Parts: sequence; structure tokens; C-alpha cells
Amino acid sequence: MALSSKVIVAQRLDGQRGLFVAHGVEPDEILIKYDGPIIDHPTRLSIQIDDDKHIEGTEDSNAFLNHSCEASAYVDWDAVCLRAVKAIPAGAEITCNYLTTDYELHSPFHCRCGSPRCKGTIRGFKHLTPAEQLELEPWLPPFLKRKLQRRRPW
Ligand SMILES: [Zn+2]
Repeated sequence: MALSSKVIVAQRLDGQRGLFVAHGVEPDEILIKYDGPIIDHPTRLSIQIDDDKHIEGTEDSNAFLNHSCEASAYVDWDAVCLRAVKAIPAGAEITCNYLTTDYELHSPFHCRCGSPRCKGTIRGFKHLTPAEQLELEPWLPPFLKRKLQRRRPW
């Protein structure tokens, strides 16, 4: 089981399923260990670790992890796990910014996260402006950091 014992799948107000915290978690606490198979193409549930390498999502891990432009969790790319950005209280939904996990999303969608910093249609890191890409740098996997660095004029 790759989900932390503090994490449960439950229905959101909009009827979709999501991952929720059952018992409060501390900043940086591990919420999911990504242990799905590595595949060479993106799917609706995968996260990307290199140009042609994706970790497939499973119902035991991130299948129900929803996106937010102001996410409560981030991927630790060294340990290949999802960690809490900050303390998350019991009952709160866990979200991740898909713009930090995929260069080009398999299934773009319109975001309704409600954040003042909402990016609207979520298509993948590739489709952000250079300034928006730079803002996400601390959360990016090594292959996306390399893409950013190659484009820098300095
Ligand atoms: Zn949003």
C-alpha cells in the first residue's frame, strides 16, 4: 500500500473522488509513495520523471490525487514520494500541482481550484510562460530543471 495510513479516498463536494487527510499531518510528512510501474508514455494518472519515463498511477497511490494551482503537497523527486507542503488538518483535501509533474499533460482540463493564482486551463509545464516556469523551479523534477537551465540566457 503506497498511501500513508493517514490518507483516505473520499468524495468531494463536486462528487469527484479525492485524497483527504484523516489525521492531521506535519509539513514534509510523506503522504504517498509512488511505486507504480515505469512506462514510456503519459496516462491520465501518471507522473513524469524523464522525457520518456512516467510512473503509472494506481488506486493505491495517486489515482485520486487532484490538482490545485495552490497545492497542499509536492513531489519529492529524490525519494519518489508525495509530501505535505505545510501542516494539513484532518478532513482537508490533499492536492498537487500537476504543472510540476508533467511536461505535457495526457488530459488537459479547466481548473476550478479557486486560487487567485489559478492558471485556468492546465496543459502541462511546457505551456507556461517563462516567468511561470521559473516560479515553479523548486518543485520540479530534475529533467524539467534541466530544460529550464538550457533556456536561461545567463
Ligand atoms: Zn487552479
